[in-house]
Formats: sequence, C-alpha cells, structure tokens
Amino acid sequence: MRLDAGRRYLMVAAVLLACYWLVPEGMPRSTAQVGVTVSSMLAVLVAAGSDRPRRVTWAVFSLGPGLSAVADAFTAWHIAVGDPLPYPSLADGAWLAGNVAAGLGLVLLQRGRRVDAAGLLDTAVVTFSGGLVLWVALFQPLQGSLDAGEIVGVAYPVTTILMLAAAVWLVTSMPAPVEGWATAALTSGVLAGLLGNVIYGASDGSLDPQQRWFETFYLLMYAAWGYGALRAATVPAALGESPTWTVSPVRLFAMYAALLVVPGVLLFDYVRELNLSHLPIAIVSALLSLLVPARLWLSMRQLQASTRQRDAYREDLEHQAAHDPLTGLPNRTYIRELLAALMARAARAGHEVALLFVDLDFFKRVNDQLGHAAGDEVLRTAAERMKATLRNGDIVGRQGGDEFVVLIDPVPGPAELVEIAERLVEAISTPIMTGGGKASIGASVGIALARDGQTDPEQLLQDADLAAYRAKGNGRGRVEMFDAAVRAELEARAKLEAEIRHGLATDQFELHYQPVMSVATGQLRSYEALIRWRHPERGMVPPNDFIPTAEESLLIREIGHWVLNTATRQLAAWTEQDRTGHGDVTMAVNISARHLASRTLVDEVRQALHDSGLEAGRLVLEITETVLLDEPTADTHLRDLRALGVAVSLDDFGTGYTSIGQLQKLQVDTLKIDQSFLRSDEPSSQALVQLMVTAAHAFNLDVVAEGVETKEQLDRLAVIGCELAQGYYLGRPKPARDIEVSEVSAGNG
Ligand code: C2E
Ligand code: MG
Ligand code: MG
Repeated sequence: MRLDAGRRYLMVAAVLLACYWLVPEGMPRSTAQVGVTVSSMLAVLVAAGSDRPRRVTWAVFSLGPGLSAVADAFTAWHIAVGDPLPYPSLADGAWLAGNVAAGLGLVLLQRGRRVDAAGLLDTAVVTFSGGLVLWVALFQPLQGSLDAGEIVGVAYPVTTILMLAAAVWLVTSMPAPVEGWATAALTSGVLAGLLGNVIYGASDGSLDPQQRWFETFYLLMYAAWGYGALRAATVPAALGESPTWTVSPVRLFAMYAALLVVPGVLLFDYVRELNLSHLPIAIVSALLSLLVPARLWLSMRQLQASTRQRDAYREDLEHQAAHDPLTGLPNRTYIRELLAALMARAARAGHEVALLFVDLDFFKRVNDQLGHAAGDEVLRTAAERMKATLRNGDIVGRQGGDEFVVLIDPVPGPAELVEIAERLVEAISTPIMTGGGKASIGASVGIALARDGQTDPEQLLQDADLAAYRAKGNGRGRVEMFDAAVRAELEARAKLEAEIRHGLATDQFELHYQPVMSVATGQLRSYEALIRWRHPERGMVPPNDFIPTAEESLLIREIGHWVLNTATRQLAAWTEQDRTGHGDVTMAVNISARHLASRTLVDEVRQALHDSGLEAGRLVLEITETVLLDEPTADTHLRDLRALGVAVSLDDFGTGYTSIGQLQKLQVDTLKIDQSFLRSDEPSSQALVQLMVTAAHAFNLDVVAEGVETKEQLDRLAVIGCELAQGYYLGRPKPARDIEVSEVSAGNG
C-alpha cells in the first residue's frame, strides 16, 4: 500500500523520536532533537510547495519548527562546547518568534473563510478564560521587576495564550477550514506545546527544561504540525461555505466552563492565599460577561433564522404543490380550492362569481411546428399577458394543457365580463416570438356566472368549459357566455340521444328510397337509402334533425349498422321478387365519418352482404369529403371495402375542401355533385358543374347530379354529359311499400 505524504512523514518523525529516546545524552540526542524540528519544517515546506493557494501561509508556519530548530541547534552547540546558556538567550528569541510565526500561520489558514461571528466569539471566550488561567499559572509568579529575563518570561505565557487563541479559532471554524484530521493534528500540536509551557510555568523555575520527557512535548508538537501541514495541503479546503453557528453541546459546555473560570480563580486565590492581582481577573470577568450573552444572542438568532428557513422551505413546498411549474400559476387543484373558497364567500355575501375558461387556439400547431420548447414559451407568455391584462384581485390559473382559468372577483356586469374576455383574446392573439420562431395563437373564451349560490365549483367549471367549447366551435377567437340556452341545448341533446336509443330498440326508424336515374335514358340505375324516424310524438323526423346528434356519439354506428342491413336486405328482396331476372340496380347507403373510421365497419359490410345474399357490386357507400380529411383510418377502410367489390361514392361534392386535382388519388368510384350547384342559376355554377363532370370523367369516375327538380336542370345535365341524376323531378324518396317491384327491375331494361 502506498502511504500518503502525511503518513510517511509520521514514520520519519517516529523514527527520529525513537532515536531521541534511545540514544545517549549529548550530541546524538541533540542531533535527533534537531532532526525532528528540521523534519517538521521540511514537511511544512513540502506542504507549501504542493498547496499553491496557501503557499505563504505554510511558509510563515514553517518558521515555527524552523526557528525552533535554530534555537535547538544553538542550545546543543552551547552544551557541546560546555558553555552554559545564558538567560535570556538568542535561543529564547528564536523559540518565541517561532511560536508567534506558527500562531500567525494558523490564523492565516482561516483566510478566505467567511467571518464567522460565532466562531470569533467562541475563540474570544475560550482565549480570555483560558488566558486567565494561564496568566495565573505562568505569569503571576513572575511578577516583579521588569528586566530582560522578566520580559522573556512574560513573553512565553503571552505567546502561549496567542497560540491557544489561534488553535481555538481553528477548531471553532465552521466549517473546518482544513480537513478534520489536519485540524486535529495542528491543534493537538498546539495543545502539546501549551501543556509544556504550562508545566514549565507552574514549576516556578524549578524544572530543568533540558529533560527528555519535557522536551518531548515540543517534539510532539512539531511532529504533529508537520503531519497536519502535509495532510491539510493534500485535501482542498472547504472554504467559503456559510457558517452554521451551531451551538453543539461541547461548545455550550465550554461556555459554562469559561464562566466558571473567574469564580474558580478567585476561589483558588482565596484557598492558596495567593493575593493575585485583581485587575486581570476583573478585565476577563467583564469581557466574559459581554461575550457569553453575545454568543447566546447569536445562537438565538441562528435558531430563529433556521426556523424561518424551515418555514420558507415549507412554504416553498406548499407553493410547488399548488402551482404549475411551467407558468408559476395556480394549478388545477389549487384553482378548485380558490374557486370553492371564493364561491362560499360569495354565496354568504350574495355576490356573483365569474369564471372565464380560456382555451388557446392553434396551440397544437405551435407544438408540432416549432417544437415543445417553443410551446412552453408560448404558454408562459400567454400566462404573463393574461396576468398583465387582468386587475389585481383576479386570479389566473392553469387548468392543464393549453387551458387556463380566470376567476373574476368582484364581478362587474356581463358586458364588462365579455370585454375582459375580449381583452384576453386580444392579448393572447398578438404573435409571440419564441426561440423556435414566431408563434401565432388565439384563444376561445367561455364565461360562466354563478348567481344563485346553487352552482357548485365543478358545475361552474364545466359550464365555462362548455361555453369555451362552443366559442371554439363557432369559429375560434371568440367569447361565449354560458347561459340557460346552452344548458337547455345540452339537456335536449341528452334527451334526443336517449330517444334515438329507444327508437332503435323499438323499430321507429325506416328507410325511404330515392331513385337515381340515367340522364340520357331515364332508366333507374340506383336507389339511395335515406333514413326517416317515425317519432311517436313528433311524427316523421328528417335525418338532419337527429343524424348530427347521433354523429357526436357512438349511436351513429348503431344507426349505420341498421341502415346497412335493412337496405341490403331490401334490394336483395326486390331482386328476388323480380321475375324478369336480376337487375343491376344498386343501393347507396350513407355512411358517417365516425362509422367509417370504426374498425368493425368492413366486417359489418361483409356480414350485411352475406346475410342479405346481395352481390358486393350492388352496394354503394356514400361518404362525405370531410371523412377523408378527418379520419386517417378512413382511407384504409375504403381500400378494403373496394377490395370487397363495394363501390364508394363521394357525396355532396363541391361543398368541402377536396380539390378536383385530389380526385385522382381518392378511393372513390362516383362523384355526387351537391344540390347547391344545380339550384343556383348563376352561369358560374353551371360552369362549375361542367368542370366537375369533365374532371370526374377524366379520372374515370361516374357523376351523379343531386337535387334535380326541374326538366330544365335535367336537360342542362344532358348537354353537359352528366350521365346520372337524382332529385324530386325524377322521384322523391319513398318507403319500400310504395315502390313497385317493376320499378326496380327497370334498371334491367
Ligand atoms: P344526402 O346523402 O345528400 O341525401 C340527399 C338529400 O337530399 C336527402 O335528404 C334527399 O331527400 C334530398 N333531396 C333529394 N332530391 C332533392 C331535390 O330535388 N330537392 C331537394 N331540396 N332535396 C332533395 P334527407 O333524406 O333529408 O337526408 C339529408 C341528409 O341526411 C343526407 O344527405 C345524408 O347526408 C343524411 N342521411 C340520410 N339518411 C342517412 C343514413 O341512413 N345514414 C347517414 N349517416 N346519413 C343519412
Ligand atoms: Mg347521400
Ligand atoms: Mg348529397
């Protein structure tokens, strides 16, 4: 195992100490003694070399063992030549200077550390109280005339006290300016030297300082310093951290011990009848009575600070739990709490509460086109702008995604509410510059009011949400107020759905069949199955009154399924009854987007054909253009259906977004030109019909003109070359019982 520099040095110092103890007196021992101090100095210098930031500190510190080595060598030389050492001598000067330098080094170690008032106070308390003890022990006996010897005698305890201060300052540093073991080594070195000084002082001059056990204190001191310096140099200092000012039990104990020093010294004085000078005792007593309360005050402040910090932390946590991290706005949960509180208060006071539901328009596009980072920026900016637009008491929260909620309190009139909402829309609609590019969004706002104190928060949120949904449906960038009409509409829809369900279960629906004829020959070519609802109260209900509602739920699939089965069976039945042979008349069934998108449709068609026994080629499915745009699966399903042999017809062509160019790629066989084109007498409409017919033919599609009501319209179609037509002029939708079998088979002829 490789030893680090500190441990290697400890081994060297141990060998030298062993030599010191084992070798005979005289030169060999003095050499070993100087060896320890010199090795200590070298170790500190090595530390200076490797610890560049603290090079000066270690250089100053190395003067401690260095000057001591000089003093030891000087003394050894005197002893060797048999020349008794004078007192005081140059050696005393070197020792003292060395001690001061080492103390200074220790203080310099704290450089760069934040001034820690508590550490400073602790140091002062220990230094003054300890200093008093040292003073009594070392200095008191020396009182007398001040000659050179006396001055040196005083200098020893004074430097001892200074070293004590430096050591305490080092130990009380929070955090330790140097790594733990290094601090321990440096301070225990100081304590060893301190002990030596105290013992010498207490011996009252009767001790021979050349004694081996006595000198060992100092040798241990230098060895510990050498080790401490090397250790400290290899570990980076934990500088600049904020002091924690903790009052550990040890520190508290030290503080009480310090307070006991003065009474202790006085008691000692009384018992031993020493007649000590009272001045230093009084000074230290006065200082301690200032320092200790100051230290306690600091601890108290620290406690308060930590309590405050904990409170702030808890508040932080609470804030995090209640706010959306992206925008910093109250989150969904918190908004509900705020709303509940607001509504409870308003209900007591008989006030109104207004809720604005803000739904961003085109946000998804921003995310898709500019990236999620840009999306986040947009959300933040929108939140900022909303806050800036509102008054102080109003609250904006993030409901989630691109939805925000605004609580208005107090509530102005309805007109003002709409105005506020419009301001919000305007603020949000100003383009937003993001890192990913310019983002243009908008907002649809729904307003809901709680008037009666009856509405609960959840209901109010739902109302506002619904109003926003309506605003979006009515063309985005709008403001809608939730009102009774909306709620009534909702309720009506729910009622209608229930009725449709009931109607399906009790056979209230029937199909009417409208013929599609050949323009040129007037021959029947197809029937279109059109649903009717024989409502027990309302009479015959046209599809436009219930299909749109059914399309908003899964009901449309049930309806479609029923139509499919009924229509195929009907044509199969007609075919069966036709004695003159099979007709090639086809049956067109309208299929809604939602139904076409469903996975089961292809199977349903296959099953209907199988059950009815109808050939696939005699079934036409009518779909509208929007299907192809909205439902990605539609295209696949159409392909599968055509693979079965079923034909597909594009209904109401010309009212949607399909361009003529796209026709080529669509999975359709027939084009049905919307009624509106025929109804219009404008030449441009007629030109359009001509264009559609020509284009359809170019792409090999058949064309049916819908809504033919007059002979003129039919004639025009003949001129244009449109081969098929449907309309009241040719035949109204009729129930199966009103259709003669011969009519169906006419397609044959
Ligand atoms: P559509 O598929 O375009 O059907 C043609 C509509 O035009 C029918 O209305 C028909 O009665 C009407 N019509 C036919 N000739 C003329 C005419 O000369 N003049 C005028 N003014 N109208 C004419 P209807 O039966 O009220 O159906 C309306 C729409 O309801 C249909 O439009 C279709 O989109 C939908 N629909 C009807 N039955 C079903 C069905 O079983 N399922 C689904 N999903 N939708 C259906
Ligand atoms: Mg149709
Ligand atoms: Mg149509």
